[in-house]
Amino acid sequence: MVRKLRTLGLGVWLILLCAADAPLDVGPALSILVNDRPVLQARDFLIHNNGVLYICVNELFPALGAKPDYSPDLTIFYLNFDKQRLAADLKTSKVALGSKSFKFAGGFWKDSRLYISEDFITGVYAEAAGLKISIDKPETVKNYQSAFRLPEKFKRDPVKVVVIDPGHGGESIGATSSEGWREKDLTLKLALKLRDRLKAVPGLQVYLTREVDKYMSLEERAEFANKLNADLFLSIHANACDEKSASGFETFFLSLNASDEDSRKLAIWENLELSGNQASHSKELAHGSLSELDVILGDMAQSEHLAESEVFAKIIQNNLALIMQNPNRGVKQAPFRVLMGANMPAALVEVGFLTNAKDRKNMLDEKHQDKIVSILANSILDFQELKARKLGMIRNNETGQTQAGPAAAPVNPKRAAQIR
Ligand SMILES: [Zn+2]
Repeated sequence: MVRKLRTLGLGVWLILLCAADAPLDVGPALSILVNDRPVLQARDFLIHNNGVLYICVNELFPALGAKPDYSPDLTIFYLNFDKQRLAADLKTSKVALGSKSFKFAGGFWKDSRLYISEDFITGVYAEAAGLKISIDKPETVKNYQSAFRLPEKFKRDPVKVVVIDPGHGGESIGATSSEGWREKDLTLKLALKLRDRLKAVPGLQVYLTREVDKYMSLEERAEFANKLNADLFLSIHANACDEKSASGFETFFLSLNASDEDSRKLAIWENLELSGNQASHSKELAHGSLSELDVILGDMAQSEHLAESEVFAKIIQNNLALIMQNPNRGVKQAPFRVLMGANMPAALVEVGFLTNAKDRKNMLDEKHQDKIVSILANSILDFQELKARKLGMIRNNETGQTQAGPAAAPVNPKRAAQIR
């Protein structure tokens, strides 16, 4: 079980700990190529949320023609190949080979297995052994890695205050199902569960824009987060569509132009706080535009944070994609009013369609709700940890899981255990 989980990578491993009922598969494999010829399908690897890929050395180096020599008690490991002996120091991330020395991203021990960074394999070792080594990665791995990249310019505050916004409330009912399920009830339930999950994380303050069934305007929600000086904002919604077959989850960050027609309609739906079904609002949806909002992107508080909001949205969507069984509708952009005034990285997640029988059954199931909540909680913590790394509060070669960060770091390295 543990071995299987590990093959999926660190982020997934954390999620699955929290969602043990999630369906498992053997996970993606990396194809290791030497001089363009595949020599190994590596399934035991981890991706840290600094985006660095680490591969277990056990099967790797024999396939690459080297004999590793190491022990969990030692911070130095050796590789013997072609009558050469290379020494890699896990503490300093430096390699000594004869009189030369090289740097690599890092390596660490986990469960008595040694993991080493991608650049060591394709760079340091390949060069020393005179080989061309490349790694062919499946899309899921590539997407997962690329999500964990902060832009050069980012808000230099660690994530300490998070605002969760349960969509709708009071007279704003949101989407409904034929059996009378209401979006505003579901979003509140998910938000309350999410707050409970995150409450256990030391150093993190979590607030909800509403804790009961009451109306709040979209502007008031962003204003609430701004007043708290929040570092992260997440609005939770459930989707609706007249096309009953429409299903899946999607995550948005702000743009004045919608990614596609569905996203444009959805933003109008949410901005006008429409309720019920789309057919009864076809006129508004067809003709509604942002012109009545009279907005310029540059004037919006959110425009400062778009690059970070995109990273946050990608983390959420990629984490959901690894666990959820319904269709992955992707990361999209649309002009959501609730995001415009938020003066911090912000995203809006649509966890499924209340109008789709399968999505609805799942979303109303307590266990499935817990699964969604675990993923959202981990996504928030992934983003928090990503920033802490960028701010130098956690070193790059620290695993964030098996080693504690500096005492000042707000990140709890054992979060998986804590929010389970
Ligand atoms: Zn909504």
